[in-house]
Amino acid sequence: MPATLIDGKAFAQTVRDRVAKDVAGLKSSHGITPGLAVVIVGEDPASQVYVKNKVRQTAEVGMNSFHFEFEATVDQAALIAKVQELNEDPAVNGILVQLPLPKHMDEASVIEAIDPAKDVDGFHVVNSGLLATGGGGMVPCTPLGCLMMLEDQHGDMSGMKAIIVGRSNIVGKPMAQLLLDANCTVTIAHSRTRNLAEEVAAADIVVAAVGRPEMIKGDWIKAGATVIDVGINRIPAPERGNGKTRLVGDVEFAGAAERAGAITPVPGGVGPMTIACLLKNTVTATLAQNKIELQQD
Ligand code: NDP
Repeated sequence: MPATLIDGKAFAQTVRDRVAKDVAGLKSSHGITPGLAVVIVGEDPASQVYVKNKVRQTAEVGMNSFHFEFEATVDQAALIAKVQELNEDPAVNGILVQLPLPKHMDEASVIEAIDPAKDVDGFHVVNSGLLATGGGGMVPCTPLGCLMMLEDQHGDMSGMKAIIVGRSNIVGKPMAQLLLDANCTVTIAHSRTRNLAEEVAAADIVVAAVGRPEMIKGDWIKAGATVIDVGINRIPAPERGNGKTRLVGDVEFAGAAERAGAITPVPGGVGPMTIACLLKNTVTATLAQNKIELQQD
C-alpha cells in the first residue's frame, strides 16, 4: 500500500490534548469551565452511541457536560423551549441537538432556535452564512476535521484541484467552502454529476461524503492524490461469522490506497476528528462569548 495512512485517531488525540490544555488554562486564569449541552430525541441506536462518546469525551477534557434526553414523541415546541433555556444558561457555552430528529419535527426550525454563538455544530444559517462570506462563525465539525487533516498533509493548498462528492449542508457544502477559502479549485459532485470517474480522476484532493459503500472506485483516484473518506457505511461481513457486519467508507479503500498519496481509513479516519472538533468548537465558543484570547504555545 503506497499511500500514507492518515491516522485520524492519533490526530484527534492531539486535538483533544490541545483542548484539555485550553480548558485548564481557562479554569486557572479566568475561573471558567466550558460547558457543552447535548440534546437527544428518541432512541436511534447510532445517535445513542455518538452521544455517549460525546458526553464521555467532553468530561475527559475537563469540560462540563450536560445531557438531555427526550422521548421520540416529544412536541417540537417543548424541544425548542429546552433549547431556549440552554441559550440563556451561562454555564452552557455550546449546544448540540443530535440529528436526525424524528419525522414530525422540522430540523431547520429547531436549529434556528439555537443561539448562533452557542451553535457548536455550525449548522445555524447565521454560521453557514458567515462561512460563505468570509468566516468568523462556528464551522461544522466534520468538515473542520477534514480541513485540519488536509492542512497537516499539504500545508498550503493554493491552486490544488479538490473534488467533494456530496453536497449536504452538514458536510459537502461547508467542506467546499473551506477548500475554496484555502484557495483550492473546487468541484462539488452529487447524484446528477455526469462522468463522476473523470471528475474524481482530475482531483489532487478527494473528499467523499456520499453514504454509499465503496462507490468511489480505487482506479478513479489520481496517482498521489489525497483521499478523505467521510462515509460511514455498515455492510454485511459473512467472513466474520453469521450476521456479522463491518464498517466501510464511500471509497474502495484497497484500490484507492494503491494509487493515493495519502488516505483516511474507515473507521479511524474522519470519525474521531469530528468529536474532537466539537470539543474544539466548544472552547472557541467559550472564548468568543467571554471575549478571551488564549496564548498558544
Ligand atoms: P447526505 O445523504 O445528506 O448527502 C449525500 C450526498 O451524496 C448528496 O449530496 C447526494 O447527492 C450525493 N450522492 C448520492 N448518491 C450519489 C452518487 N451516486 N453519485 C454522486 N453523489 C451522490 O449525507 P451526509 O452528507 O450527511 O453524509 C454522507 C456520509 O458521511 C454518510 O455515510 C454519513 O454517515 C457520513 N458522515 C460521517 C461523519 C463522520 O463523522 N465521519 C459525519 C457526517 C456524516 P444529491 O444532493 O444530488 O442527492
